[in-house]
Amino acid sequence: MFDYHMHSTVSFDGKDTPEKMVQAAVNAGLKEICFTDHIDHEINVEKEIMVFDQKDYDAAYTGLGAEGLKIRFGVEYGLKPGNQAQFREDLKRRDFDFVLGSIHMVNEMDVYLEPYWSQRDIPTAYREYLEETYACVRAHEDFDVLGHLTFISKGRANPTKELLRYGDHREIVDEILKELVRKGKGMEINTSGVDRCGGYLPTPDFLRRFRELGGEIVTIGSDAHTFDRVGQYSREACEILKDIFGYVCTFEGRKPIFHKL
Ligand SMILES: [Zn+2]
Ligand SMILES: [Zn+2]
Repeated sequence: MFDYHMHSTVSFDGKDTPEKMVQAAVNAGLKEICFTDHIDHEINVEKEIMVFDQKDYDAAYTGLGAEGLKIRFGVEYGLKPGNQAQFREDLKRRDFDFVLGSIHMVNEMDVYLEPYWSQRDIPTAYREYLEETYACVRAHEDFDVLGHLTFISKGRANPTKELLRYGDHREIVDEILKELVRKGKGMEINTSGVDRCGGYLPTPDFLRRFRELGGEIVTIGSDAHTFDRVGQYSREACEILKDIFGYVCTFEGRKPIFHKL
């Protein structure tokens, strides 16, 4: 079992230390994990609190280890349609194993928070999120896997927490998936939506479609910000990927490794 998306106290919103997260991974019976702390340059936030300090990152993870558990070191990078140069610069900070590209903002508005929702009805909020995602996957080359494609569903201020459905946005979703395939990028099945909005982010039909279109790379992530969520629903997600792909991926030095399920 694998968990390729988690945040420790290195991230501005992570609640538990790397050691505590590692112990939780061992207790959950995981074989391999990857820390993916946030680098998100939000211009509306006064200081760059959503960008970890590289010194903190290196200090927190140096020498971290546990018997029987492989630990990789990555980043969850906030993609915007115009931040390619900043992204390339940030990737020079160290040799990351894995780079998750995530869309947390639309037009510089954080989709997790109230202002985004007070200006749009739900269908518009979802559609604009997908349009921004498409613009980002077209603009960027430097990520490995697209994080939580339907993240918008779990936004804290989303009044419905309704899952974004493939059938409602077929055309634009297909364009996003085709672009990922064309660039050789992967998708994530993010398990953090199961408790919060009743399904994976995205749901398995998106992954099945990605596979149909020629997609090959797929990872599992809990998006844990606390130790008790490490590896949550990883076993169930493995079963889903076993059925669709027959394997799951991990990364080392930005290269995918395929594990038969
Ligand atoms: Zn995220
Ligand atoms: Zn995350």
